[in-house]
Amino acid sequence: MVKVLCVLYSGGKDAQEEKRLLGTIENSLGLKDELAKGNHTFVVTDDKEGPNSKMAKEIVDADVVITTPFHPGYLSKEIIASAKNLKLCITAGVGSDHVDLNAANERKITVAEVSGSNVVSVAEHVVMTILILVRNYNIGHEQISQNKNNGWLVAAIARDAYDLEGKVVGTIGAGRIGYRVLQRMVPFNCKELLYFDYQDLPADAAKQVNARRVADLNDFLSQCDVVTVNCPLHEGTRNLINKDNIKHMKKGAWLINTARGAICNAEAVKEAVESGHILGYGGDVWNHQPAPADHPWRTMYNPHGGGNAMVPHYSGTTLDAQKRYADGTREILNNWLNNKPQNPANLIVENGEYATKAYGQRKTTVA
Ligand code: NAD
Repeated sequence: MVKVLCVLYSGGKDAQEEKRLLGTIENSLGLKDELAKGNHTFVVTDDKEGPNSKMAKEIVDADVVITTPFHPGYLSKEIIASAKNLKLCITAGVGSDHVDLNAANERKITVAEVSGSNVVSVAEHVVMTILILVRNYNIGHEQISQNKNNGWLVAAIARDAYDLEGKVVGTIGAGRIGYRVLQRMVPFNCKELLYFDYQDLPADAAKQVNARRVADLNDFLSQCDVVTVNCPLHEGTRNLINKDNIKHMKKGAWLINTARGAICNAEAVKEAVESGHILGYGGDVWNHQPAPADHPWRTMYNPHGGGNAMVPHYSGTTLDAQKRYADGTREILNNWLNNKPQNPANLIVENGEYATKAYGQRKTTVA
C-alpha cells in the first residue's frame, strides 16, 4: 500500500457539472475508486503554496506525487528534502520543470510525464494566438463587445493588422509541439519556416515542412516576423528571451510563448510591447501559477492599445487533452505499482540521470 498525493486545480461548479474535467480536484484524474480498491491512500488538494499548505504537510510521507503544469505543485529542493518516502513524480500533462529535476536525481526519484498527451492541443492554440496577434483581433473584438471607439472604427484595427502569408515564422524548440506548429503553418504560405534547437529535425521531417535550422539565437530572432517558443524550461532556457536579445527581434514582430513563462523575461517583454518594438505577445504560461493579480503581462499593451493575447494556462488542458493525460497518468502509476517498465518516451529523469535529450545538452543523458 502506498500514499499518492495529487495536486490539481479546483474546478468548483464547472467540475461538478462537467465530469470530463478530469484534471480538477473534484474529478481527480478518475483515480479515486481505483486507488481505494487497492487500499492505497489518496490525498487530493489544490492547496500548494508555502510551508503550511496541505501539499507541504502531506508530502512528508507520500510515495508518489501527481500534479499538473496548469496548477503545479512546485517541488523545490527543500520540498523534495522533506518528502522522505518520495519515489515517483508524475506530471499529468507535459513539462516537468515544476520539479527540481537535479534534486530529484540526487535522490534517484523518477519523474515521468504523459509525453505527447496535449501537443496537438497546444499547437492549435499557438496557431490561434499567432492569428489573434497578426490580425490584431482583440482591438476589433473590444470595439464590438465593449463599445470601444464608439463600437466601430475599422482604421484603428487595420493599422496593425497583417496577413500571415509571406511572413517568416520560427519556433524555438522543434520537438513534438514545435514541429506540429510548423506543420500547421505550411498551408499559410509563409515566406519561410525556421527553427532554433540544438537537435536537428530528422531530414525527412524538415523536408516535409521545408524548415531551415538557424544555429545562433540572435540571428534567428532577427530573421523572424513571428517567434513561437516551444522548448522545455530548464537551466539553459530560463530567461532565454531577455532584455539583451529581444532587441534583435524585428521591429513590429510578434512573440508567442505557450511553453513556460520563465523562458521569457517578464519585464523585458513588457518593455518591448509597450515601446512598440514588438507589436504583441501572447500565450498561456506564466512564471508563477496562478499568476498574481499585478503580473505585468495582464495589462501590457502596445502603443495602439493592442498586442496582448494572454490567457490563463489552459492550452494543453482541453477536454480532449484531459482524457489523454488522465489515461496516461493511470498507466504510469499502474506500471510503477506493478513493477512494469515505463514507456521510455515518458521518462524525464530516472536512476539519477536525465532520461530525455529535451532538457538541455548534458553529459549524463541516458536516452
Ligand atoms: P519535446 O520534448 O517533444 O520537444 C522539446 C524540444 O525543445 C526538443 O527538440 C529540445 O531539443 C528543444 N530544446 C530544449 N532546450 C532547448 C534550447 N535551449 N533551445 C532550443 N531548443 C531547445 O517537448 P514538447 O512536447 O514539444 O513540449 C515542449 C514544452 O512545451 C514542454 O516541455 C512544456 O514546457 C510546454 N508545454 C506547454 C503546454 C501548455 O499547456 N501550455 C502543454 C504541453 C507542453
